[in-house]
Amino acid sequence: MKKIIGLAGSTGCVVGSAVVFATKELSLNAVLVEDVEKEIEAMDAARQKYDASLAELAATAGEGQGEIFEAYQEILADDAGFFDDVKATIRNERVCSSYAIEQKRIEVESIFMSIDDEYLKQRADDINNVCHELMAEIQGISGGDPFEGVEGESLIVFAEDLTPADTVRMDRSRLAGMVTEKGGVTSHTVILAKTLGVPAVVGAGAFLADITNGQNVILDGATGIVIVDPEESELKEFMVRKEAADKKKAIYDECMVKPAYSKDGFLTRVNVNTGDNESVENFKAANCDGVGLFRTEFLYMSQSDYPSEDFQFEAYKNLAEKCKDKELIIRTLDIGGDKQLDYMNLPVEANPFLGYRAIRLCLDRTDVFKTQLKAILRASAYGNVKIMFPMIVTVDEVKEAKAILETAKAELREQGIPFNENVPVGIMIETPAAVLLSDKLAQNVDFFSVGSNDLIQYTTASDRQNELVQYIYNNCNISVLRAINMVAENAHKHGIEIGICGEVGSEPRLIPLWLAMGIDELSVAASLVGRTKFILSQFSKEELQAVKDKVLDSEQIFEVIKTLDETLEKAGIDE
Ligand code: PEP
Ligand code: MG
Repeated sequence: MKKIIGLAGSTGCVVGSAVVFATKELSLNAVLVEDVEKEIEAMDAARQKYDASLAELAATAGEGQGEIFEAYQEILADDAGFFDDVKATIRNERVCSSYAIEQKRIEVESIFMSIDDEYLKQRADDINNVCHELMAEIQGISGGDPFEGVEGESLIVFAEDLTPADTVRMDRSRLAGMVTEKGGVTSHTVILAKTLGVPAVVGAGAFLADITNGQNVILDGATGIVIVDPEESELKEFMVRKEAADKKKAIYDECMVKPAYSKDGFLTRVNVNTGDNESVENFKAANCDGVGLFRTEFLYMSQSDYPSEDFQFEAYKNLAEKCKDKELIIRTLDIGGDKQLDYMNLPVEANPFLGYRAIRLCLDRTDVFKTQLKAILRASAYGNVKIMFPMIVTVDEVKEAKAILETAKAELREQGIPFNENVPVGIMIETPAAVLLSDKLAQNVDFFSVGSNDLIQYTTASDRQNELVQYIYNNCNISVLRAINMVAENAHKHGIEIGICGEVGSEPRLIPLWLAMGIDELSVAASLVGRTKFILSQFSKEELQAVKDKVLDSEQIFEVIKTLDETLEKAGIDE
């Protein structure tokens, strides 16, 4: 038995048989050439041939997978930025095209790697992939289906690295999993594995020398653990776990695409939280009821300077169009606290979580705020967009933010740019001040969304990032649960909806409590939509009222946990 531990790339448990995908060795030496123009012509012909194969892959790839190959085609077509330099090297140094491409690839890779941005670093992988495949084309060793000549059905491929094109070329009906020595969790290969629903473990370090074709393998994509040649007992244990997990997943997947009605007909919308590139790319409106929290900070963090109105508009519009008539709640910039932006030159503060952050910063930097509001408003012409302000403490802040929104609207009107005049405006309830003022706040906005991650921290005075105080930072803290109940009552008394977009929204034992409180919308991680909907569908709102009363009347947290766990247990839910 051999255990390989890597990064959890794409979730899922499989058992299968190993196939070693040996990348063919490329020749990267500086071979001198006589006729440089002929060398360039041959390279351009290979570019064309590779481009045609990418176009074919883009056309035949499944839904959501074609974009990767289109992005590759763009890199391949980059004459001014990349291939002009390659051609200059061939001409000036009289060297072969593979060597010239490799020199340019190394140069570009080092630039990308020097930028402190995980996403950009992994985009360097795309350029590497294009260069390697082009060189393979030039040298006549471009890859086909790595499963050709391999027997068996459930095949787990082991490779140093895999390009998306390698993945698409595989016989996908037999591909059960992927394990790579290199690569990160946001690489396009992983994104593709997720779209294909294939478990993947990546970045596992050197292992290829120890693997041979046909070895038995257990792969757990959720934990990043791979067991090669497992013992009989490990296989048995795995099969039991897998069977239970598969059964649950099938039930959850069925629930994911349906409305989440309780047994007595109360409907809770289950939305997803998104914002980072990977989850935006993977977002599928069919698998949820909408987006309950679009964390726009990620857009700002992926740039080295303030993102322009047009840049933001494209990003918001893209998601609004994906959502169609389902809601898309865009939260305005929530920077500060644990999220910093170099180009903003934010002051160093003794207590950043109590300092210059989120709406406070936006109301001060109205130029930055208005640019964002205009971009969101413009996107509102393309879908069911709602605007949400974070970290609200007072009604004054809401009025001020809404006044800036009105000036943004006036400017767009003047420019003749369309937007939804009645775009709903909501706020996050993340501070005890907002909880205590929720009756007044409700009269000034269209909806509330509870940011429990922060609300727990501010209510219990325990830093959400400090492991020493995590015993106080508790999901089931009674003061927090009472606070959320109070906000729900005030929202409904004034005829507005309340959602929860913090992590407690998908906490299994708390879901019945949210149903009992009549929370209208829960926004959760995309992978948890099905489970959340399933739990909601197992209870009757009316019957849970007694549970709610008992929980809110508890003295100690262990009593809350006991009551809620018994409630799940009685309904036969094991989570
Ligand atoms: C929250 O505080 O619950 C929330 C959703 O916002 P964030 O986690 O981005 O602070
Ligand atoms: Mg928050």
